[in-house]
Amino acid sequence: MARERGSRGQVHEVTGRRDTGWPGDPATASTPVARTAGDVTGLGAGADDLAELDARVSVCRACARLVAWRESVAQTRRRSFAGDRYWGRPVSGFGPADAHIAVVGLAPAAHGGNRTGRVFTGDRSGDWLVAALHRAGLANQPTSVHAGDGLALRGVRVVAAVRCAPPGNRPTTVERDTCLPWLAREIALLAPTLRSIVVLGGFAWQALWSALRHRTVAAALDLTVPRPLPRFVHGGETLLARTCGARLQVIGCYHVSQQNTFTGRLTEPMLDAVFTRAAGA
Ligand code: SF4
Repeated sequence: MARERGSRGQVHEVTGRRDTGWPGDPATASTPVARTAGDVTGLGAGADDLAELDARVSVCRACARLVAWRESVAQTRRRSFAGDRYWGRPVSGFGPADAHIAVVGLAPAAHGGNRTGRVFTGDRSGDWLVAALHRAGLANQPTSVHAGDGLALRGVRVVAAVRCAPPGNRPTTVERDTCLPWLAREIALLAPTLRSIVVLGGFAWQALWSALRHRTVAAALDLTVPRPLPRFVHGGETLLARTCGARLQVIGCYHVSQQNTFTGRLTEPMLDAVFTRAAGA
């Protein structure tokens, strides 16, 4: 399966490299491309490590509506970013492979991650999240502006439940389920060190529990998902016992979207309290 490389030959303004030239682009010309939900299941399960998973995610084309939307946004661009080249591809997880905290968001923003190629980068949501991670000692800098800005996370990996920017920030249930094997495999690969998962908002909450029920995750984490599933509540915490004796903490947190941060529904102290608990798990 050959990979499309629409921007091949351009020189990226940050790296000065050709091919896609994007800072941290995980894919190569030989990275296999998922074109169906079945491909996502197979390629997700077959990714041996996070580097390979990131590469496979970044070239996925399994959801026709989202592929069309992300690429259309990348072509038309927002007026304020008219001079930028957009990523226009799925956005992989970001953070070290031995993270003990995972942060699960909804999906990349059309002019955030879909523009910059890095999750929670280049928009107000990213500003809030990365500033909070920095205050908690989990990031080396308080800002997340573009993929070559030097941001490094410590002990935390940030992922999206759906890896492509959706129209109106609303993926369909089918799109969420199609993308689920990427999330499930990511959690399974993090399992050896994972102690806490911070879930941003109700949509990601549903996706996370579906991922935890996925057979590969259940086997990797060695735990049983409770029934009925816990309800999403900001600050609500569920402790899952693993057979090995360790525990996995799952914390709900309002999403760092502008609807929540501009209105005061989510404040910096509320976010800091969540990350303090996650860091102490
Ligand atoms: S949303 Fe997920 S499954 Fe669908 S095209 Fe994007 S990366 Fe692939």
